[in-house]
Amino acid sequence: MSSRALTDNDLASSADVRQLQEAVAHYQRVLSGAGYGFWEWDLEKQHIHWLGDFWVQLGYGEEDAPRLQDPNYMPEYIHPDDREPVLEAVRQHLRTREPLNVAYRIRKADGEYVWNQLRADSRPNAQGRVRYISGVNFDITELKKTEDALRESEARQKRIIQASNDGIWEWYAEQGGFHFSARCWEHIGYTEADDVLNEGVDRLQVWRSRIHPDDLPRFDQVLAAHMKTEEPFDIEYRIYGKDNSVYWIRARGRATLSQDGRALRMSGTNMDITHLKHAEEKVVKAKEQAEKANRAKSEFLSSMSHELRTPLNAILGYAQLFGYDGNLSLNQQENLKEIRSAGEHLLQLINDVLDLARIESGKLTISLEPVLVSRVVEECMTLMQTEADKYGIRLCVSLNDLGEAYVMADNVRLKQALMNLVSNGIKYNRIGGRVEVVVTQPDTARVCISVVDDGFGIPKDYQSKVFEPFNRLKAEFSKVEGSGVGLVITKQLVEIMLGSLDFTSIEGQGSNFTIDLPSVDGSHQDLMSESRSGRQDKSSIGELVVRESSRVLYVEDNRSNIRLMEQFFSRYPQLQLDIAEEAFLGIYKARSTLPDMIILDINLPGMDGFEALSVLKQDPATAGIPVVGLSANAMPHDVQRGRDSGFEDYLTKPLDINQMIGVLNRLLPPDA
Ligand code: ADP
Repeated sequence: MSSRALTDNDLASSADVRQLQEAVAHYQRVLSGAGYGFWEWDLEKQHIHWLGDFWVQLGYGEEDAPRLQDPNYMPEYIHPDDREPVLEAVRQHLRTREPLNVAYRIRKADGEYVWNQLRADSRPNAQGRVRYISGVNFDITELKKTEDALRESEARQKRIIQASNDGIWEWYAEQGGFHFSARCWEHIGYTEADDVLNEGVDRLQVWRSRIHPDDLPRFDQVLAAHMKTEEPFDIEYRIYGKDNSVYWIRARGRATLSQDGRALRMSGTNMDITHLKHAEEKVVKAKEQAEKANRAKSEFLSSMSHELRTPLNAILGYAQLFGYDGNLSLNQQENLKEIRSAGEHLLQLINDVLDLARIESGKLTISLEPVLVSRVVEECMTLMQTEADKYGIRLCVSLNDLGEAYVMADNVRLKQALMNLVSNGIKYNRIGGRVEVVVTQPDTARVCISVVDDGFGIPKDYQSKVFEPFNRLKAEFSKVEGSGVGLVITKQLVEIMLGSLDFTSIEGQGSNFTIDLPSVDGSHQDLMSESRSGRQDKSSIGELVVRESSRVLYVEDNRSNIRLMEQFFSRYPQLQLDIAEEAFLGIYKARSTLPDMIILDINLPGMDGFEALSVLKQDPATAGIPVVGLSANAMPHDVQRGRDSGFEDYLTKPLDINQMIGVLNRLLPPDA
């Protein structure tokens, strides 16, 4: 470049200069778009030259430029609280020449303040004097907000941790080693000043060495496993304190993994749960004890009841046998009746207690299957008729077109529940009263069986105690016999069958006890009849191959079943049918007549078919006689249970003639 002075023309024509101008324009565009304020403060002229749209962003216009360029006005734009710190920072900079870096609040045109970061530096001239300070201003309000929120959240966490009494810990992969907060050590009785923590030993090792040996492997394993995942972990373990007593710690934490799955850090909290654990242990122990006591009670009741039942069955049995003695005087017959009725009452009581004990000890098993409601109701009504007649009560049924409705229930247990309710309706009633069983279907999912009586009703004050065991609600002072457990059993039975039992009652007007059970589709009927019939051809009657004259004893209490069997046997002159309407009579007849075969109804009053079978099998005289069970319980598992109990065969009601013939063919001696 030559030394002559350049004229404007020279400059304008120079391509370099054009390039330079373009570059300046470019930077001006960039600078003004960023929202930054670039400035130079001329200390000599007391003038600030601004670049960029910093002030525009704060709402200022052209008219404000003179004041903004005058450093004397600058403090006015700074928040009063920040003015002195800013000036001091500038003075400091001039003294030390350290770059200026200060955050303060700056006033916008609308009077609000925003946070601003100022960064500046200056270069002294050869004489060491500073003429220009140049720097940049930018809005850091958002940053500040985040920072404040962060600080607040940190402070909050600290407060919470302090308040929660939790210790915190962190493990760092890079530095290696654990940080335990002082609270962690305090939990187990140490302070930071304790020697063991200051001997330069790895604190994690100290901690581990105190962990209960039974829990240490689990502690190590859980920790190691969680180093590989970001799943939170949560463990409880025992640790020995400084005084060697056992503390319980609940540790929760989470690992932070690097992109390639390595654990970078793991942080968490320790909670002292010693008190909680002790309380929990006490509760568990108390519960165990209560359960044990309850089990013992139930077992005692159960075994007592069994023990009582056996001799009672004998008393009742022999009382019945006496009844068949035609030589008794009228007076003796009356006395015998008393023995029987008292014995039966006692048996009922024992059975109730046994049932309750079984339910409470969880030993009662039920099998849910589709049960035809109308059949159960009908059977129950038949069974209760004698009782109703005794009390002069009229029994009636309203099926409301639900003759084909099925519920999911245990057939025997549902009948038991229903009989309990009907029996109460009869007992707690006046002569000429009425008990009605009403079947309704409130929605497709349920069927309700209500037992409605117009008897004494239950006083309001007593209604909350209706389901208390052994509480007879003052009925114990009346002539009505009872034990006060019938309703408890009924309720529990219904609940085991996934139903509910509720009642309403008005003193002097009557009561309504309603069993609510899940309904099932009637199509299950096919399933039942299938299991019942054994899929035989029903269109023609099979051939009986028995030619030799044989005697069959049929033990059954139901008249219509007896008639049916009599009709069937009347077709075969070689067969002789003998009937016993009670189990005891059946046993007596079996012993005295030694029939070729016995058909035993399962649901006999007093003693059921299974019990009668076991008596027959224990007696050498009758042990060899084939016994066939006959029952309305028709599900496959009933049949299985029957066969498993020692019945030669197990027939189900309604009786399938062909099946019956098949059984006779098999069990009776054929041709002589
Ligand atoms: P109990 O063996 O005494 O009949 P329950 O458990 O069946 O025992 O009934 C408990 C008590 O509830 C009865 O003693 C009786 O006071 C009252 N109770 C039950 N059912 C009825 C009813 N249908 N009408 C009036 N009172 C009833």
